[in-house]
Amino acid sequence: MGASIRVGKIFGIPIQINYSWIFIFLLFTYVLADSFSHSDPDWPAAQRWGVGALTAVLFFLSVLAHELTHSVVAIRKGIPVRGITLFIFGGVSQLAHEARRPFTEFLIAVVGPLASVILGAVLFGVWYLVDDVNATLSAVLFFLATINISLGVFNMLPGFPLDGGRVMRAAVWGLTGSYWRATQVATRSGQVIGGLMVIGGVLLVVFGAGFQSIWLAFIGAFLFSAATASYRQERDRERLKSYSVADAVAPDLRVLPRDTPLDSTIVSEELARGGGLVAVGGEGRIDGVLTRRALERVSNRDLPVTSSSQGMIPLDSFPSVNHDASIADALEQMEDDGLDQLAVRQHGVLVGFISHDAIIRLVRALRKTAT
Ligand SMILES: [Zn+2]
Repeated sequence: MGASIRVGKIFGIPIQINYSWIFIFLLFTYVLADSFSHSDPDWPAAQRWGVGALTAVLFFLSVLAHELTHSVVAIRKGIPVRGITLFIFGGVSQLAHEARRPFTEFLIAVVGPLASVILGAVLFGVWYLVDDVNATLSAVLFFLATINISLGVFNMLPGFPLDGGRVMRAAVWGLTGSYWRATQVATRSGQVIGGLMVIGGVLLVVFGAGFQSIWLAFIGAFLFSAATASYRQERDRERLKSYSVADAVAPDLRVLPRDTPLDSTIVSEELARGGGLVAVGGEGRIDGVLTRRALERVSNRDLPVTSSSQGMIPLDSFPSVNHDASIADALEQMEDDGLDQLAVRQHGVLVGFISHDAIIRLVRALRKTAT
């Protein structure tokens, strides 16, 4: 999505604005200022542009409110939220992982459009009350009410990854019991709706409905590619289910001597080789692991005077997975706990480690071999 700027935190959720959003802000301000020049020709230019910009900011807050409802429900359902990003086509809540149950997915998806429609209805109510009081306020309220209702309705289109597509996936998932089957149906539907929007947008421009109709085609193209990407991602996961953790365990387990200082080059070399993790021990015994993340928490001043055994995470407290578990399960565990690696055990005995990097490499290799 490109670069974003962080603007703050709400309920502990980092809020970011992607640079592409600035285009939407300027476009909205322009379209509004232009429409005021027709509806309220006696307004001075400063008022037209000022009210236009203010309304664009309120539109931003409307999209943010929509995303916040998704995020808050996700957190309440035990899914960590990495942040909310607003970009050119709206907003996106970055959930650590997908819902594990159909009803959870349904709830997280449905609250966003519901919030937008309710907000729109409330704004229409206020607009109705103040319509005769102040023309400026009335124009802003009418616009915001309309945009919120549109936001709610558009997002309920049944094409994944739109909210309506998620509701559709939850429904098919609940009925068939197959998450993968449901994802196939909902992402195909997303591709169809996206494709129709592209065709519709282009036809509208061709038949003279105004150049702004091309926007519909842009959103359609975005929806199509997002649906395709979601389909591929879930297909990769589906493939991983037939591989066990043993298939991705790093073959040669290298062990750092306990007294190796953390600033020595062998530590950084072994971390790079082991996907951000290296075992610490000696005499055929492994005491714990040194991870890149753990190392980052040690100050530069302390690195030369800290030994590997002082900086390591003891093996007993390092999360592990059984060697015959599926790689899809291991990936789930990594996402749930925000980890880059897991220890792999066979009958309780450590046999190696599996890293997120190794899983990604396996996914890429499978993509190449699969038709
Ligand atoms: Zn939504």
